[in-house]
Amino acid sequence: MKFETRAVHTGVHKDQQYNSVITPIYPTSTFYWDDLEKNSGYDYTRSGNPTRDALNENLASLEGGVGCVTTSTGMSAIHCALSIFDPGDHVVVPTDVYGGTFRLLTQFLTRKGLKFSFIDMTDLDAVRAAVGPETKGVWIETPSNPMMKVIDLQAVVDIAKQHNAITICDNTFLSPYLQRPFDFGVDVVMHSTTKYINGHSDVVGGAVICREQELADRMAWLTNALGLACSPFDAWLVLRGVKTLAVRMEAQQASAGKIARFLENHAAVEKVYYPGLESHPQHELARRQQSGFGAMLSFDVKAGRPMAERVCIATKLFDIGVSLGGVESLISFPITMSHAAMSPEGRAAAGITEKTVRISVGLEHVADLIADLSNALDGKSS
Ligand SMILES: *Cc1c(COP(=O)(O)O)cnc(C)c1O
Repeated sequence: MKFETRAVHTGVHKDQQYNSVITPIYPTSTFYWDDLEKNSGYDYTRSGNPTRDALNENLASLEGGVGCVTTSTGMSAIHCALSIFDPGDHVVVPTDVYGGTFRLLTQFLTRKGLKFSFIDMTDLDAVRAAVGPETKGVWIETPSNPMMKVIDLQAVVDIAKQHNAITICDNTFLSPYLQRPFDFGVDVVMHSTTKYINGHSDVVGGAVICREQELADRMAWLTNALGLACSPFDAWLVLRGVKTLAVRMEAQQASAGKIARFLENHAAVEKVYYPGLESHPQHELARRQQSGFGAMLSFDVKAGRPMAERVCIATKLFDIGVSLGGVESLISFPITMSHAAMSPEGRAAAGITEKTVRISVGLEHVADLIADLSNALDGKSS
């Protein structure tokens, strides 16, 4: 079955009693046993719940993995995935990894004895130099936030495999509709389902999906042992959201492509960061390993910080906000918002300047979005 069909059907039929088309929410902490030996297959909601299992089956299928766990947030999914490593283990990470991941690694997991090297993963020589015999894991996030750098999945996996390091990919920005890291041999895929998978900005959640059973079993064990699983209500919302993932992604990325071109041709804009533009340094790579370019983009304005701030404030349809992937468009100023906690040197290394504005393109009509950006860039109010 094709992606769209699986998104609508896989895992959802859990009501054999009344045949409800939609998966019921099972808001129960515990399940009663038939006798002291036998239960329904469910025992306690931290360890398993039918609504959550419906979502797990659905997402495992969409990514092409053998097992999925869904968690309370994207960060708890990241914590789960990194909990397979032990003190002393070395993990290689991109310099411009998601800010929350960076904080977890540098301020928490290093205290637990894990060792991290942060490198520019678009530079394969740097990856070769960083991955060694002591390396147990390679963390990949592509495209990166907010500069939309694209990492070569196949090349990084090949390097990691030479040292038997486990590769984990944060696939939040493209969703399984536009990028399937397992096709390149990645071992583990994680998502903040808060973003495109749910798509409606009404829940926070995460998912970890594995290509092979042994790792899938470890993730399920960790999710239960650490108590990371999402609530049945949240699982139900994300399952509702994911059914329209394909059509949302198609529409949002089509608009993003048009907006990227509009911005690239605007006199007030210095540079646009969108993998779908021929001017993007990894455009060919993105074309090869992704099945679309996504709906996130950033741009630098020529006139500097006051102009960047004015554009964020002047747009009417783009709410100012962090997060992304919802049906409503958002605009953000990374240096005071998503990347405020990053050091100025770190931001400079990642290419984030005081002229950089990030947008998440939603489902509004693209003509309205372009008119709104146009007014904001021309200093007019709409
Ligand atoms: C939002 C995000 C996360 C963290 O997810 P939460 O649901 O906010 O905990 C991780 N990675 C990426 C790329 C994200 O955009």
